[in-house]
Formats: sequence, structure tokens, C-alpha cells
Amino acid sequence: MENFKHFFTENSVLSRVQKAQETIWLNRHKQPFAKCAQNLELDMSDINDAEARLSRFAPLIEKLFPETQNKHGIIESPLIYINNMKTLLRQKYNAPLEGKLLLKQDSHLAVAGSVKARGGIYEILKHTEDLAVEHNLITPGDDYTILVLPQNRNFFRQYTVQVGSTGNLGLSIGIISAAIGYKVIVHMSADAKQWKKDLLKKYGVIVKEYSGDYGEAVKHGRSLSEQNPASYFVDDENSRNLFLGYSVAGKRLQQQLKSLDITVDERHPLFVYIPCGVGGAPGGISFGLKQIYKDNVHCFFIEPVQAPSMLIGMATGLKNKISVQDIGLTGSTQADGLAVGRPSSFVGEIMQHLLSGIFTVNDKKLYRFMQDLNKSEHIFLEPSACAAFQGICQINGSKQMKQYLQENNLSSKMTNATHIVWATGGSLVPADIQQKYLSSVF
Ligand SMILES: *Cc1c(COP(=O)(O)O)cnc(C)c1O
Repeated sequence: MENFKHFFTENSVLSRVQKAQETIWLNRHKQPFAKCAQNLELDMSDINDAEARLSRFAPLIEKLFPETQNKHGIIESPLIYINNMKTLLRQKYNAPLEGKLLLKQDSHLAVAGSVKARGGIYEILKHTEDLAVEHNLITPGDDYTILVLPQNRNFFRQYTVQVGSTGNLGLSIGIISAAIGYKVIVHMSADAKQWKKDLLKKYGVIVKEYSGDYGEAVKHGRSLSEQNPASYFVDDENSRNLFLGYSVAGKRLQQQLKSLDITVDERHPLFVYIPCGVGGAPGGISFGLKQIYKDNVHCFFIEPVQAPSMLIGMATGLKNKISVQDIGLTGSTQADGLAVGRPSSFVGEIMQHLLSGIFTVNDKKLYRFMQDLNKSEHIFLEPSACAAFQGICQINGSKQMKQYLQENNLSSKMTNATHIVWATGGSLVPADIQQKYLSSVF
């Protein structure tokens, strides 16, 4: 703590963060998109490349996961209005909410039941294509469904995939890798829920459990993988591929907004609220949206009060050189998907001039949001995903947010605004555990 003391002066936003109080941090380094876009290491052509790869693999996905048949192997989630929840948020949380409120249901993405179905599956498909082309199993233009032939599955069986995870990334990587034929080892942190480990074992995945946090699970996974030349390590903290897999969400959302006749332009701003762990998922999605909507989209992340890793990394400028433990927080939270002590420095770098701000939220509130959403809309989300509602409750009420709206010339446009709460997980939670969550009293 000594080294970081000067950041945490009395009454600063960071002093509230350090005391584990709910906070709004606004990004003073945000710039007009046109000014910072050229300096980013990735751009729209990278997203287009990722989208094309997902299309090439769609017939294979359809074959491996019949649940994706209705979308022909494209894994995408619904975008729906939640007007009952909007009324409830107004009445119960005093959220002075104007404009449209929608839920992006990545909680119901096929195959992995969470936002990780974007980045995790994409990363394994990219790795698979690289291996398959290198070893002449396929040539560009081929029908990728030939990869399910027994001789090809046996080929992939010689290779191992490993990943460190708090739960959902392990599920997504584990399920897709096992389906293609790889050996899979998932290194799970102490926060990971038991049902996620049990589900993976059913797919034949080796689950290694650690008593430490996410950082420790990643460290062990990485070093074990390095000892095996036939092993590929999915590096959640640094992977450009994961990030690009998430970023395709931007183009898909644009289509969905169009088909709902929702305009996003200078007079009709778009706000998105996305729960944040290490940063890859919310960073990638925001990056994709920024490429499309530029200054007309306002991206906010939400983190638990005990694990605001991206917030402290960005607010101090230290990126991954600071952890929540360094400032006396525990890093542990019921929001297992967000239980990360140290942020991705790569995501912090890319988002430095793009992100609007970060909110923190108490664990107890996550359960209240969960129960309220279930009561009003009959939709179930896991605790991590419910963090997104903290953003929408703050957007128009607090002094800081009023200032943000003024500075960005938004105050008079809020009746035209569209707000999207990004629901990042929940559909795979077993029914008995859902019931337990829903009947808990806080
Ligand atoms: C992983 C996860 C997130 C955050 O993604 P990061 O890439 O770790 O920032 C949010 N919600 C859920 C449910 C997740 O599983």
C-alpha cells in the first residue's frame, strides 16, 4: 500500500474505492473517437476477420451443437425490451430513467450460457484453424464440417488446451475444446462455483482446483502448459483473439438495433453497461461498439466493490502493476465471473481513451437485482451478470453523472437515449441453485 498511497487521498474517488464503498469513476482520458482510433493496435478489419472466421466455422458449430440449428451455427443472443424492470427500477431504486431500456441476453448464448461463448469459443476455433491449415487437414474454402471426421478428431486428441478461470471461461473453453477433440485442463480459482466444475467433468475435462484467486490459477496453468509443447494456453489477460471474439458483438448488435428500428446517432445516444472481470469481455464488446457508433455510444463497466481491478488499473494508470489486494481489498465476491484482482494491461491500454467510466457495486445488491428481474421479467441471471444494473441506476441521478451528461452534451438528449444492460451469464445455473439464489433474503 505504501507505494500507492498518493493515489488514495482523502475524499478522492479512489479513497472510496479503497474503503469498498460503491463508487462512480469517470474516465478523464476519454477522447473523441476520431482522435484516438488510429493509435489503437486493432481496428475494424480485425473485427471483420474474426466475423468471417466465425462464419466459416458456423456449419461445424451447427453439427457439434444441434441447439444452434435455428441460427445455422451462429452463436448470438436476443436483445429484448425489459419495460417491467424499467418500471420497477424507477419505483424501487429511484432510477430517474428516461429513454429505452433493453437487456442483451448473453446469459442465454448457446453452448456456454455466458458472454464467454463469444471470446472463448472464437479463440479455440482460431487455434483449430491454425493447426488444421498447418497440418493440411483443411485448405481455405473447404467445408469445415470435415473436422468432425474420426481421423481429424484423433489428430486434435494429440493436443492439449489449458486455461485459468473463475468458472465461465473454463466452461466455454472446456466445452468447445472437448467437442473438437482436444484434451482439456481447466485451472479453477477458489471463487469458481462447484456446479461449474461438476459440469466440466461431465464433458471429460480435467479440472484442477486452487485455493488461491484467479491470478494463481492462471499462473499455474500457464507454467504447466509451457512444459508441454503440444499444449496451448488460453491467456485471458493478454489474448487478442479472445478480445476480437468478443468484439464481433458490436456488429451483431448493430443488426439487432436496426431490426428493432432503434436509431443511434448524434441525437440518439446509446449507453451500454457491462460487468467487468479481467476486462476482455467488456473491453472487446465496447471496442466493437465504438468502431461502429464512435462518439454516440457510451460504454460503462461495473465491478464488485471488493474486486475493482480495472478501475484501479485505469484510474492510477498503473494497469496490471496494481492489484486490489495491494490496496487492502479482498478480491473475493459472490460475482465469481468478476472475482479478478489484477486487470488485463492490454485491455486497459486499448480502453484508455474509449471507456466512459466504471461503477462499483455491493454483492448484496446483485441478489436484489437478480430477484427483481426474475419477479418482473421472469428471466434468471447469475450474480455477476446482475452487476450491469448498477450502471442504469446511477446514470441520470448522481451529481457526477449529471456532469458527464453535461460535458458530453447529452442532457437534452436523454429522452431519446437507448440503454442496454449486458446480461453476461446465467442460463446454465442448475435449477436448484437458481431457486436458492432467488429465495435468499438480503
Ligand atoms: C467473465 C465474465 C464477465 C467479465 O469478463 P472479463 O473478460 O473477465 O472482464 C462478466 N460476467 C460474467 C458472467 C462472466 O463470466
